[in-house]
Amino acid sequence: MLDNTTYKIFLVDDDEIDAMAFERTLKKTGLEYALTHCKNANEALEQINQVQYDCIFLDYQLPGSDGLVLLKKIKELGIAAPIAVMTSQGDEKIAVEMMKAGAFEYFPKAEVTPDNIQRIIRAGMRMRDIEVKKSNAERLLKENSDRLKTILESTRALIFSIDRNFRYTAFNTIYHRTISELYTIEPELGLHATYDFSYETDRVFIQNCFNRALAGEHFGVTEEFGDREKCSVFYELSFNPIIDEFGNVSGVAIYGQDFTEKKKLEREILESKFEAERTAKAKSEFLSNMSHEIRTPMNAIIGLSELLLKESLTDKQLENLKSIKYSADNLLVIINDILDFSKIESGKIEFESINFDLFSKVQEIRKTFIFKAEEKGIGLKFQVDERISPFVIGDPFRLNQILLNLLSNAVKFTKEGTVSLIVDLVSEDEENVEIKFNIVDTGIGIPKDKLASVFESYTQAYTDITRRFGGTGLGLAITRQLVTMQNGQINIESEPGKGSTFSVTLQFQKGVADSQATVDEQIAEMLEKRDFDGMSVLLVEDNVMNQFVAHQVLELWNIKVDFANDGLEATDKLKVNDYALVLMDLQMPVMSGYEATAFIRDKTNKLRNPEIPIIALTADAFPETKKKVMEEGMNDFVTKPLEQNDLYNKIKLHALKTVKVK
Ligand code: ADP
Repeated sequence: MLDNTTYKIFLVDDDEIDAMAFERTLKKTGLEYALTHCKNANEALEQINQVQYDCIFLDYQLPGSDGLVLLKKIKELGIAAPIAVMTSQGDEKIAVEMMKAGAFEYFPKAEVTPDNIQRIIRAGMRMRDIEVKKSNAERLLKENSDRLKTILESTRALIFSIDRNFRYTAFNTIYHRTISELYTIEPELGLHATYDFSYETDRVFIQNCFNRALAGEHFGVTEEFGDREKCSVFYELSFNPIIDEFGNVSGVAIYGQDFTEKKKLEREILESKFEAERTAKAKSEFLSNMSHEIRTPMNAIIGLSELLLKESLTDKQLENLKSIKYSADNLLVIINDILDFSKIESGKIEFESINFDLFSKVQEIRKTFIFKAEEKGIGLKFQVDERISPFVIGDPFRLNQILLNLLSNAVKFTKEGTVSLIVDLVSEDEENVEIKFNIVDTGIGIPKDKLASVFESYTQAYTDITRRFGGTGLGLAITRQLVTMQNGQINIESEPGKGSTFSVTLQFQKGVADSQATVDEQIAEMLEKRDFDGMSVLLVEDNVMNQFVAHQVLELWNIKVDFANDGLEATDKLKVNDYALVLMDLQMPVMSGYEATAFIRDKTNKLRNPEIPIIALTADAFPETKKKVMEEGMNDFVTKPLEQNDLYNKIKLHALKTVKVK
């Protein structure tokens, strides 16, 4: 086999004759060659180190050294040239040793034939090619693994991999450090990874994840690891099955990112949210309690001034008393607003579904404003769309509140012109009716940039003007809530100096006409003579001022009043005395109104009349309080400050069975 390559051959042989014979044979191979011959081991080493030879033939027996020592030295220098060893006699032991030391061929000098030499040179060349390729591949592999290692180490994430037997095949320093710190166990390549997770919950969790990934599933999880009480960390881990060349899962690579800071932040946000909610609730409760507390003395002020108004007074006294009553009424509106607002804020508001006469309601509201409008010298116009049928089902109490709020504002902010309430039918079907209430005024109006904010709590359009007009800035916030909570809409159009229009659209179910007395009839009834002919009533009330006011009112109607300062006293009295009915305060020391009622109604307690009518005296008029009062076994309720007509009507209604009213 001929080619054009010139082979650089190096021969180490101390025997001149053998060397000449070798060259002769080499010539006969027909290969192009350049032969360098060296007799001495040291010289040979120097030469080989300087020139890159294609093939080295080495005589085993050399003076001062043997072939094996030289061979080892050549290899130590990292010489890549293939080395064939020749000797005079065949010796298997030497052959094995030489091959072990890195020779690729061993042959007796007797076999130095052209064919053999040619074969050896070619095999050597092939060998060297393979060696070069191998070392290139090794270099590439090393470069690659260095690169990978750099990547593994340059991330702040934790990376590790396991084989099918859960043994580590790799991990980065971060992983090593994290595990060591968390579990005081040092991970080691080739050892079982699961055992490093030394907390039971962590071990079970990770084992589970390994199994899922080994079954071929790719997935991510976020989990807390370590001592939950002292030092735990959150990690977002992704599990990735490693697939081998046959498509089988040979292990799992896991990538983990520290999530602890984020989790901490999340917790802090959550905690501050709770805190904010707690504060809001505390604020709400405070407002609610405070207005509750203020209502008690208000009860006395309003009740007593109403009583005084009936006495014969000088003009001056009457005027002063009217001022007291007017101020007290105003204060009560504010307190009610605050109470309402805090109830709305804490979501404690419910709506009634009552059949009521919308026309009468509007009439009633009109009457409330006639006097005020006349006083201010402005017109008052009320107009109801004739197509609307008067009876609807909804919450008359809240409708009243909405319209009163808007009309009070309209009257308050109008100096001249007219305030109107225009009630329009928007749409109706067989069951429902949609009604729009327009409250139109010709007052000071609201600047455009304030239109959106007037509905916010504590907001007033003009702070300077408001001081002149008064108000808390809660009215519209409450009104809007009351409207939207009933799925209605509230809109506002306004032009400064010209006036404002507030429109409220509400849906009602269609109602049925009932035979209830009209407002006028009710008023007529109220005017009738009130005399209960010395009927006996038990008043259960802990507040002395409230006792005093109620006593004054009840005496006026010729009612004999007996007092109990708390629920327990009341039940004691009901064991021995007969009364036509009980007026029961709810919040009292020792035994509350609710507890006392339960005790009275329980027949095993053997009170004289377990079915005696009980009217609750409540501080608020909310449907939920009313509901509770009824559920607890009371018959009715009146709100404090006592509204005389209401109290009279309810006493009359419930006492009717036992006492004849004159
Ligand atoms: P306030 O108790 O102060 O009246 P509201 O929430 O009822 O609180 O009203 C908020 C503000 O909106 C008022 O202070 C006033 O500036 C403005 N406003 C409300 N209604 C009218 C109106 N009809 N005309 C002009 N300004 C109004």
